[in-house]
Amino acid sequence: MPIAPRATDPVLSVEKLRTSFMVDGSWKPVVRDISFTVAPGETVAIVGESGSGKSVTSLSIMRLLQPDTSRIEGKVMLGGRNLLALPEHEMRKVRGNDVAMIFQEPMTSLNPLFTIGDQISEALLCHAPMSKGEAKAETIRILEKVRIPSAASRFDEYPHRFSGGMRQRVMIAMALATKPKLLIADEPTTALDVTIQGQILDLIKTLQEEEGTSVLFITHDMGVVAEIADRTVVMYQGEQVETGATTDIFHRGQHPYTRALLSAVP
Ligand code: ADP
Ligand code: MG
Repeated sequence: MPIAPRATDPVLSVEKLRTSFMVDGSWKPVVRDISFTVAPGETVAIVGESGSGKSVTSLSIMRLLQPDTSRIEGKVMLGGRNLLALPEHEMRKVRGNDVAMIFQEPMTSLNPLFTIGDQISEALLCHAPMSKGEAKAETIRILEKVRIPSAASRFDEYPHRFSGGMRQRVMIAMALATKPKLLIADEPTTALDVTIQGQILDLIKTLQEEEGTSVLFITHDMGVVAEIADRTVVMYQGEQVETGATTDIFHRGQHPYTRALLSAVP
């Protein structure tokens, strides 16, 4: 029986998450005993260099790793349920309704065979009763909200017609359409030009402020952390070396790796 969540409970609680991969016949731990929470409306960053286990952490939370070659231990609590103990068909509903994900390469999350308008309308129609016409009008409103220029005229275009930055906006629009409890963004701006990066960050901040969405933001960039995160988890070689309010991490970060990351911030 799931325990009914209270308004003050964390949206996400990760407890002693440990992920191993089968490599050359034995289990190799890649993420070791990561624990953190994301409160309602909060933005938490996971920061660390390439290969430190950030993506494996987010993929473990959503159970998107190959089950036969990976082992995920610990607890991932969302809405009073341990996601690691849910049957796969329940987990699919969690991915569709409760959590939205944005990855570095947005093309992997958009279906190339359907128009942008149809994909967002479909997401809307899955979540609230409305007519197709209403869904179209709402889709255009959302596309305008994420500042897609000439949104109405781009409704019938396919994903390949959008630039990288525009595709990331479309992914944020999808996230708006499903009104998730949690948005997990894994290096969503890494592949983009610096000016576009800033615009996408602003948009995620707006989404967070206006919709109260909780955000788990993954990045290797301390500058981005400073801009967006209330609290920060620092990962190094698969371990969590420091956790705290972002301002504390910046002013009083203790771990040598945190200090090294900070020294690289201009
Ligand atoms: P980050 O996102 O921080 O750059 P990752 O989480 O992608 O790092 O990877 C962490 C470590 O796990 C790396 O050493 C990577 O090579 C390893 N790894 C990732 N996926 C797999 C896999 N499917 N099988 C074996 N090792 C993996
Ligand atoms: Mg990664």
